[in-house]
Amino acid sequence: MPQQPDVPLDGLYGDLVMDHYRRPRNRTPLVDADVEAEEFNPFCGDRATLQIALDEQGEVRDVSAIAEGCSIIQAATSMLSGLLEGKSLDEVSALGERFRGAMHNGAGADETGLGDLLALQVVRQYPVRIKCALLPLTALEEGIKAYRSKAR
Ligand code: ZN
Repeated sequence: MPQQPDVPLDGLYGDLVMDHYRRPRNRTPLVDADVEAEEFNPFCGDRATLQIALDEQGEVRDVSAIAEGCSIIQAATSMLSGLLEGKSLDEVSALGERFRGAMHNGAGADETGLGDLLALQVVRQYPVRIKCALLPLTALEEGIKAYRSKAR
């Protein structure tokens, strides 16, 4: 992927990021969530709240993802929420690892299944914003961890 260090902020995030920012997916709160978590980043006032309801097979049946704050967290939360349905929590965790790797090291052989999240690669030029992009994932991981310790 070519480096573009001088892109103006307006064009920076690309159509896909702006689309998720303007029309965030899965914003309806769940009443029957199995996994729930919220993360807050005081640096830019970002907040991500994620909920997951599981089916009998332990796969994601329903997702709610609500973000407040900058455009990046809102887009990232929406993008992440769109990739979870039908996955087991192990698959969700594996996807999260690939997303984190792509944000820190660039997309490579491990980008399989990242879908719209790959558009967030543009944020890599702005290291402080990587945290914005990863905040919903951190919330998701905390939620899964809490769910597993409860289920045991
Ligand atoms: Zn932010």
